[in-house]
Amino acid sequence: MIQSISYKIRLYPNITQQIQLSKSFGCVRKVWNYCVECFNKKENIKSTTELRSEFIYMKEVSAGMLQQKERDFDQFKKQYFNKNRKTKLNRPKFKKKQDKQSCRFSNKSFKFDLIKHNNKIYLEKIGWVNCVFDRIIPESNKLISATISLLPSGEYYASILTEEDIQILLKTNRSVGVDVGLKSFLVTSDGVDICNPKFSYDNQDEIARLQMWRSKKVKDSSRYKRLSLRIAKLYQKISNQRDWFQHQVSNYLIQNYDVIAIEDLNVTGMVKNHCLAKSISDVGWSEFFNKLKYKSKWYGRSLIETGRFEPTSKTCSECGWINKDLKLSDREFVCQGCGVVIHRDLNAAINIKNLAIGINVATKRSLRECKSGEIDFVSLPVPYEMITT
Ligand SMILES: [Zn+2]
Repeated sequence: MIQSISYKIRLYPNITQQIQLSKSFGCVRKVWNYCVECFNKKENIKSTTELRSEFIYMKEVSAGMLQQKERDFDQFKKQYFNKNRKTKLNRPKFKKKQDKQSCRFSNKSFKFDLIKHNNKIYLEKIGWVNCVFDRIIPESNKLISATISLLPSGEYYASILTEEDIQILLKTNRSVGVDVGLKSFLVTSDGVDICNPKFSYDNQDEIARLQMWRSKKVKDSSRYKRLSLRIAKLYQKISNQRDWFQHQVSNYLIQNYDVIAIEDLNVTGMVKNHCLAKSISDVGWSEFFNKLKYKSKWYGRSLIETGRFEPTSKTCSECGWINKDLKLSDREFVCQGCGVVIHRDLNAAINIKNLAIGINVATKRSLRECKSGEIDFVSLPVPYEMITT
């Protein structure tokens, strides 16, 4: 199946190329901010050709890139006025120099040849830039675009968007329920417990120390900037570690199970709870679920979200008895209906799996009694929204 897939590579531009790139970022930002200004004043937007003759410095950067930005704004406008959108977009924002910088090259304005120019990528008006291809991009892939970005930590990356024919994975005939939490990153209904690495917790002392030093420096002085860079690098490290960890866990689930059931968590709502906000954003559930979503689409797996208000933690996975008085601090689930004692998260994970594959506790028991072998979940009705098929 043809799927969009992007390859991220690290770039090492030299000083001239860095200057040229920062000009490109600046011009792209200028075009975007110009569009936002026109949008706010309800004026017509001039074409980039007119803009380029008005602002001579824009001629120094690739024209395609500026047109691309204008097209992006058109897309944004369409989405902004789209009445069928589930969540309404906010008004467009001006881009600042301090934010993450990026610009996009269309497939005509960049190229690379892994045989002739090893570890180099050509960008229009910038030239051949050193880079590291740590993954091979198959030659059959259709190139769409390359987005160059500069992170606050001073690292340059190119994200090359391609269309690839991805082979779906073989069926494993296994399904799993996943309960995410703060104590454990996740517990599966098969009893796998993956602990929470707490990357930002490990680095927070160091960050706090650097921030304290920085607060004593004159703002925008060279020492202030040097410390800011160190802080940005630490944040970058945390984000890389978290990303790596989430890829490992999502790959594990995708490779081992056909059907993955997760709880539909209201992460934005939960972050508003100040006591837990820091730990919740540290875990990064939404990014993790995102990875699961696109990977299940790539590899032909089903990802099912169970309803947000299902009492998965409070229900006994054996008999269906509901413990209304279960507290967050109770780590064991003790059932007064059938007497089972089970780990709280494992109990929830089993409930999530049962909900997703359409077994309620009563039918589950009868299924087990008749021992009909593997439960054929495909033929069972799936009462909850299927995200992917
Ligand atoms: Zn029970």
